[in-house]
Amino acid sequence: MTEQTTDSSGREEATLDSIANQIKGCTACELCRSRTHAVPGEGNPNARIMLIGEGPGYHEDQQGRPFIGNSGKFLGELLGKAGLEREDVFITNVVKCRPPGNRDPMPDEIAACSAYLDAQITLIDPDVVVTLGRFSMQRWFRNERISKIHGEPRDDDNRLIVPMYHPAAALHQAALRGTIEDDFARIPKILADHDQKADVENERSGPKQEQMRLF
Ligand code: URA
Repeated sequence: MTEQTTDSSGREEATLDSIANQIKGCTACELCRSRTHAVPGEGNPNARIMLIGEGPGYHEDQQGRPFIGNSGKFLGELLGKAGLEREDVFITNVVKCRPPGNRDPMPDEIAACSAYLDAQITLIDPDVVVTLGRFSMQRWFRNERISKIHGEPRDDDNRLIVPMYHPAAALHQAALRGTIEDDFARIPKILADHDQKADVENERSGPKQEQMRLF
């Protein structure tokens, strides 16, 4: 596994592994005191789709891996609805250490972790980010209701952000199960629409660049 690379001027550049190592040693908030393992996230470093949950639960804390308990099993099924496997995507959380008793993460804990998430998003540079649950949704959609906006992609600087219910919510409320399954089943179309838009934009900018070259 690569650790750290250097740029042409010898400066250290972050890699997913170096970020994961920083997370494992992080003491920026109280959650470090009660964690068994930090859970940086895992998956395809070149993923076109990144999924962002809330925070590790008991099993994730025990093993240092995201979404491996009941929600994770269901998440695997949901990915299947989109023709995807876990290995195709990158999965992480808003907070990387388990809040005791699975309580909600506090604002200061989310803030302490946000630079890690920013760095992961920058490195992976996914075309689509799927937010799972309200804490990850709030990063992009403030004061909005998941019941109104779930499954609807929104453009964020050439990236689509798709808010979805948290898999655990759908496990607890049977009525949401079909909704989250339908939302996941739309992911291939969301990717295809993203690609089509990118093609149109490339075609538009192509002739312009050609003209520029003439001068
Ligand atoms: N719930 C989350 O939000 N993340 C996990 O990793 C597991 C359960």
